[in-house]
Amino acid sequence: MRPVIGLEVHIELSTKTKMFCGCSSDHFGKKANTQVCPICLGLPGALPYVNKKAIDSTISLGLAFSCRINSFSKFDRKHYFYPDLPKAYQISQYDIPLCLGGVWESPIGKKIRIRRIHIEEDTGKLQHTEVNGKKVTLIDFNRSGVALLEMVTEPDFASVEEVIKFLKEIQMIVRYLGISSADMEKGSMRLEANVSVSQDAQVPNYKVELKNINSFKFLDKAIVSEIARQIKLITSGEKVVQETRGYDETKRTTFSQRTKEEAQDYRYFPEPDIPPLRFSDEEIKEVQKALPESPSQVRNRLTQEYGLRNDYTQIIVLEKERVQYFDKAVKVGKTKNIPPGLIAELMVNKNLDREFPEPEGLIKKILELTGVEYANREETQKAVSEVLEEQKKAVDDYKKGKGQVLGFLIGQVQAKLKGKGNPSLINSLFLDKIKE
Ligand code: ADP
Ligand code: MG
Ligand code: ZN
Repeated sequence: MRPVIGLEVHIELSTKTKMFCGCSSDHFGKKANTQVCPICLGLPGALPYVNKKAIDSTISLGLAFSCRINSFSKFDRKHYFYPDLPKAYQISQYDIPLCLGGVWESPIGKKIRIRRIHIEEDTGKLQHTEVNGKKVTLIDFNRSGVALLEMVTEPDFASVEEVIKFLKEIQMIVRYLGISSADMEKGSMRLEANVSVSQDAQVPNYKVELKNINSFKFLDKAIVSEIARQIKLITSGEKVVQETRGYDETKRTTFSQRTKEEAQDYRYFPEPDIPPLRFSDEEIKEVQKALPESPSQVRNRLTQEYGLRNDYTQIIVLEKERVQYFDKAVKVGKTKNIPPGLIAELMVNKNLDREFPEPEGLIKKILELTGVEYANREETQKAVSEVLEEQKKAVDDYKKGKGQVLGFLIGQVQAKLKGKGNPSLINSLFLDKIKE
């Protein structure tokens, strides 16, 4: 039996304004209903207009996953009734999403197909609370109309580990692109996992949707317990029902929220108030050109250019700001012959980058810690060449296999540099020269 998992990921975009009006998108923690207007309140006669930044952000994510960008796209109305949806429909994209058919390759080479990425608007928020001793539900529309993108994958995940790896990578990519904080606690990244268990090579004809789970940790637990539940049912000859389930954190099991989900009829139809979107190849190329370095490109660069240890690379790459800090520190450090590996080590093991907000401060600290200002590369090179010239016998001994002679040779170089040589630099220069 093999788990089959597909994901639906919602990302709230951090554009200044909402998707179809000029209200601020920055709704978290703001006084209720202070960032609203006739458009995002769905008042009669209000006309929505498209936020170009949100479109570009969505296209940039699509390009980051090698999606095809539709040169013609449009918005559709998705109808359903819920108190947090003032128009009783959500403007979304139905049959022609902005991005189609991408792929993500995991570090171990497994490919996950991205079915589509489309853009839509967020809903308001219900607040269940008490007013004058009465239980009431209040509605805050500050979030109503905030730009939201939805990414849908094919059911290509075969384990919870793959799912979590993928989601962490998405979160990182979104942050690198600067299109969202992708903060799960604040709801700017929301996940739904569809889970089934297959007994053959096919994708099962049912799926259980896990909803309303707002941390990686609980999603992990929910998926694990859901797979176990389904395997148990199948093993005892029962059928798994297609339904929506939530996760009970105390009972550590999933529980049924909604069954008999006959394909809900949303009565999709083209949004008549917004003209279709058209993109030229040039416009898409512009977005492509503006794409920043991706996390995997940074990983490769740190490993290949600086020979950083893999564990250090993995930690630094988690935060784009740390990568920028590291790059700057390496640049500053280079003039003082400080090896990138040492900078990375002090960042990862001692968090010195948090202590010194400016890379210059970190470099100064390193110089204090090592107690020496290292001689520069040219001086060191000169000293090494001189010693190789003067100590021919020792060099010959070394070449013949007397490894311990290297210490003597390095000592000779240090003497010439008055102890200010960078040991690892001397070492590597020696080995390079001797190999010649
Ligand atoms: P729906 O029409 O109900 O929205 P879709 O086929 O569009 O269903 O798929 C929605 C999500 O469910 C996608 O992320 C997809 O990968 C996933 N999915 C579809 N079938 C399965 C399955 N049998 N098991 C697990 N996930 C599935
Ligand atoms: Mg769906
Ligand atoms: Zn508004």
